[in-house]
Amino acid sequence: MICGATREELGRNPDVHHIIPVRRYIESERFSREDAHFLENLVSLCSSCHRKAEFGKISPEQLRQRRDRG
Ligand SMILES: [Zn+2]
Repeated sequence: MICGATREELGRNPDVHHIIPVRRYIESERFSREDAHFLENLVSLCSSCHRKAEFGKISPEQLRQRRDRG
């Protein structure tokens, strides 16, 4: 997980967050809902980070960087 929380600490599987929101794809005429599910658009987050990401408290750039760092 990008915040460093382990699966053991969570006690469950991490949330999957779409860096570019799925609704952005649904609203677009050039893309379909399925296009949102490519791997580069996905990060695993604990539920508290997921909430922050959904409210824009963690930027897409930060999400990508931290994921790439592993
Ligand atoms: Zn977290």
